[in-house]
Order: sequence, then C-alpha cells, then structure tokens
Amino acid sequence: MDMRIGNGYDVHALAEGLPLWLGGVRIESRTGCVAHSDGDVAIHALCDALLGALALGDIGRHFPDTSGEYKGIDSKILLGKTMELVSAAGYSVGNVDITIALQKPKLAPYIMQMRETLAGVMGIDVSAVSVKATTTEKLGFVGRSEGCEVYASALLKKD
Ligand code: MG
Repeated sequence: MDMRIGNGYDVHALAEGLPLWLGGVRIESRTGCVAHSDGDVAIHALCDALLGALALGDIGRHFPDTSGEYKGIDSKILLGKTMELVSAAGYSVGNVDITIALQKPKLAPYIMQMRETLAGVMGIDVSAVSVKATTTEKLGFVGRSEGCEVYASALLKKD
C-alpha cells in the first residue's frame, strides 16, 4: 500500500485568562485551552491524524500528559516529533485538512497564518495544509464556549 489515511479528534475545555493557541498561532481571546501542554487542540488532532494513518497509536501514547517533559510544551514541538515518526516509517504527507469548532472568537483572520505555520513545521507546501473554522451555532459545549473541538484528516504517501 503506498497511501494511508488517518483521522484525529481532540477537545479541550476553555477557561478565562489562559492563552489560546490554535494551529501554532496565538489567538487574541479572553479564554484559552486548559491543558498539560500549551493546549493547541488543533495540533493535537493533527498529530493524531498523522499517527492514525500509520497505526502508531495516539498522541497520549507518544507524549504522555503525565510526563513533566511535556508540561507547558509548545505543541509545534510535538508536531515536529510526530513528523519524525512519519519520516522514519518511510512516508511523507500528501495533504492534511483540519476543522476547528469554536464559538468565539472568529478565526478567519488567523487561518492563513495557521496554514503557513503548520506547513513550516511539517516541511510541506502551504497548499497541502487546509484549516477551516466553524461555530456550532451556539449548540452544545462548543456553542456555550465551554470547549474547543477539532477534527483532522491526513493523507500520507510512501516515499
Ligand atoms: Mg489535546
């Protein structure tokens, strides 16, 4: 098989006064993700999609949140380490697609910066990195601004 597909999903609770990081970019917001790491829920879902494509388990297995090593860590470092696993397995990224569900703030002004940041860390062209954002029309925990939810897909091709 020379192509593999993976999906990832992650949720973090939001709390006042915490920094909000999404797709490797600091977002201007009153609330941020509660987390052991920097709480970049978009990168976490992306890492799970990449790991999933290779049946390598999940981000918690590779970077346990019980480990002091990962306390407050910049999730871009976790993405870089995940890419090392992808390369070591003999694969490279075809494309990735990320959907962020967040009620507020609006993420449109940050989308291009997220795509460029993620593409830079992954060492791929920005055209291969899609980031989309949606609200949930005020429905559910996302709609009540209690959390941020992210879905990611990744296609890998054999080198
Ligand atoms: Mg997470």
